[in-house]
Amino acid sequence: MSVADNIARVKEQMAAACLRAGRSRDSVQLMAVSKTHAPEAILEAFAAGLRLFGENRVQEFAGKRDALHGAGIFGEGGASVHCIGHLQSNKVRRAVEIFDGIDTVDSLGLAQGLDQAAMKLGKKLPVLIEIKIGTEESKHGLTPDGPELAPLLERMADFQHLELRGLMTVPPFADDPEQVRPYFRQLRVLRADLSRAYPNLKLDELSMGMSHDFQVAIEEGATVVRIGTAIFGVRSSR
Ligand SMILES: *Cc1c(COP(=O)(O)O)cnc(C)c1O
Repeated sequence: MSVADNIARVKEQMAAACLRAGRSRDSVQLMAVSKTHAPEAILEAFAAGLRLFGENRVQEFAGKRDALHGAGIFGEGGASVHCIGHLQSNKVRRAVEIFDGIDTVDSLGLAQGLDQAAMKLGKKLPVLIEIKIGTEESKHGLTPDGPELAPLLERMADFQHLELRGLMTVPPFADDPEQVRPYFRQLRVLRADLSRAYPNLKLDELSMGMSHDFQVAIEEGATVVRIGTAIFGVRSSR
């Protein structure tokens, strides 16, 4: 199966999930997660019509970016690439240079650093706050009822160079996607609660759902699904 065939199949499945949930098809965006894959794979997905991409490592994407620039996929109506991996503070400046959005804001300090870097680069940077749902110790993100989320949300309006758009989560893995459904639902409920508590913040986006569980995520309200394997095939690492 080619990348284009895979994208067509994923899009059909997205449309079916929207139909089941009574949602309009254009309420969900497809992000192609191209980490570990070569620039050629990204160009195939671009040629098949995709414009939104996710990469999880600053250095890796910085390396691919020149090749992609050469192919002319950026600019007006072109590709956007978001950071979907944990961002270390020493890579913030580089990340703001190369990414069109940061979907993994998980501390007040990181938000401050991103705002500063975006100011220096004259950018307005779209961001999502990463929420940790479930109890896996290794996952990044802020817990819904932990002590750090409220202070971050309260300060968000001060960050003039950040544009908060919503929430993102990577729930615990389960073979059966139905077991992940409660976590997706929890993120949707959290967004509703936070929207009431912080009416001035825009929390439209819910980035949730990966290759094996995106249909359930759409049924539970995802506005962006992040798909790697189902588009590009199995990764040899990470
Ligand atoms: C790798 C990755 C994905 C894509 O995972 P697949 O199972 O390959 O679709 C989505 N989100 C994040 C944060 C990832 O790191």
